[in-house]
Amino acid sequence: SDKSLIVSFGEMLIDFVPTVSGVSLAEAPGFLKAPGGAPANVAIAVSRLGSKASFIGKLGDDEFGHMLADILKQNGVSGDGILFDQGARTALAFVTLRADGEREFMFYRNPSADMLLTPEELNLDLIRSAKVFHYGSISLIVEPCRSAHLKAMEVAKESGALLSYDPNLRLPLWPSADEARKQILSIWDKADIIKVSDVELEFLTGSNKIDDETAMKLWRPNLTLLLITLGEKGSMYYTKYFHGSVDAFHVNTVDTTGAGDSFVGALLCKIVEDPTILENESKLREVLKFANACGAITTTKKGAIPALPTEAEVLALING
Ligand code: ADP
Repeated sequence: SDKSLIVSFGEMLIDFVPTVSGVSLAEAPGFLKAPGGAPANVAIAVSRLGSKASFIGKLGDDEFGHMLADILKQNGVSGDGILFDQGARTALAFVTLRADGEREFMFYRNPSADMLLTPEELNLDLIRSAKVFHYGSISLIVEPCRSAHLKAMEVAKESGALLSYDPNLRLPLWPSADEARKQILSIWDKADIIKVSDVELEFLTGSNKIDDETAMKLWRPNLTLLLITLGEKGSMYYTKYFHGSVDAFHVNTVDTTGAGDSFVGALLCKIVEDPTILENESKLREVLKFANACGAITTTKKGAIPALPTEAEVLALING
């Protein structure tokens, strides 16, 4: 097997977003379908940048599930890891940003197909062929999905892949904030690369100061790279050898959905191309500039998947 593959494991679902902005879900006159799910976004981000990506996840054997599988295929993501559950349906989310600035969510997940993927169903050959194995499902705490993740992580690690984790905290889905924190941190030291947002940094550390001291609370000796994304303020990086921050690009932001996934996809592509970026600060800074540009472009269009850039678009922004 050629070791250039990035495998992303988790959920793919459909976000239903109101046709008009600033309304509550109950007030929405109608909804548009926006395919997403952070791990699927990452796989598509990688593919759009020209690298090889595969997605592992379970969909319902229903209209939505087949629509999502088609979207992966159309975007050049290998479908070898896609499973269809014969009983449960595809996960759905209704999401809005209300006029008062609060996000409102409603999920169809009782349970949805993605939560039911078992360790026995995993395509282990696919996992073994990964150079980077990325995970960050919002169902990581739910059985049998949790066991499937732990098994996949173990197999990926044994076969020499780098493990990349994005907790993708979506608090309304967790039984309690304490449980969420406990569960996320319980698998913290298994990853090589972790990306958190400023909101997740604050949530996981209990500190509202975004600085080195707070970030170091999330550092573990076996980590290779810890990243903190700060929206329009760019990103911060921590390794064993060096740490710093890289500024964001100025763009006309329309919708930030998927910016973090785009950032991660870009980073993983560059790591697969040249793993020495993890030990070379000037190379890493170049890569983070590229990843910041990817994130920035993703905010300039509505939705996540339609907004993920090609390499040419990223280079155009970087080279002005
Ligand atoms: P997440 O989606 O995980 O919260 P962010 O919103 O911080 O992640 O976005 C990831 C990256 O995308 C940021 O580090 C930044 O480089 C870029 N980005 C996000 N929002 C903006 C913005 N409004 N303007 C410019 N760049 C942005």
